Amino acid sequence: MFSFLLSLSLGFGAISQRDLPVDRVEKIAHEVIANLKADNPSIDPTLVVTRRPEPTPLGAMAYSNGSCALIINTTDEAWAQWGRFINSDNTSKWDEIIAASIAHEVGHCMEEGKRFTSNYEITGDTLRALGGVNTAMGGSPSVVFKQELFADAIAVLYAKAHFGEDSQYIVDNLIQSRARFGHDDPSHNTSRELTAFAMADDAVAPQNATGTNAVKLLEQIH
Ligand SMILES: [Zn+2]
Repeated sequence: MFSFLLSLSLGFGAISQRDLPVDRVEKIAHEVIANLKADNPSIDPTLVVTRRPEPTPLGAMAYSNGSCALIINTTDEAWAQWGRFINSDNTSKWDEIIAASIAHEVGHCMEEGKRFTSNYEITGDTLRALGGVNTAMGGSPSVVFKQELFADAIAVLYAKAHFGEDSQYIVDNLIQSRARFGHDDPSHNTSRELTAFAMADDAVAPQNATGTNAVKLLEQIH
């Protein structure tokens, strides 16, 4: 697993903490949490900066009592995985790309996501792609897929609400990254739905919570 990740990150340009300092990510995380909390009063994620065994630099842990931790994982192996999204070609967009990734994780803290996961039915090509696939994390692939789709929808809505003209690039970057890594783990390949979601008429009601609008739009494109 270790060598696999290493070769994976080298292929896409490994990111070190010299390239991207932890406190830069931390600062963006505080900002994104504050923005999403303003629109979604039911969430109150705690930010935890730590070293974890998972191979990803960001994570969320939702507890049954409703509390949620957003985790910044500072191991070198995890940090290298930022290379999936950021590279020397898009340095001017790093803050926004990172913010969208954080919005995705905060999406895992939202109640609306739990309801979406129990109500939404996966059909067509996505269902076929998920058939018989086990995810690295355990869990049912279709449940993981729905959780990821909802969280990605939050990232897209966040980008559209906060990044103006740049949002198109940020959303495309997210979709391409999902498609590129979808062969390894179809439960995280939301690119098909996300493309439709990003193009959908997003005249969503600004007074609604982001989570409510995400569910509404996801049902609309279904
Ligand atoms: Zn996720």
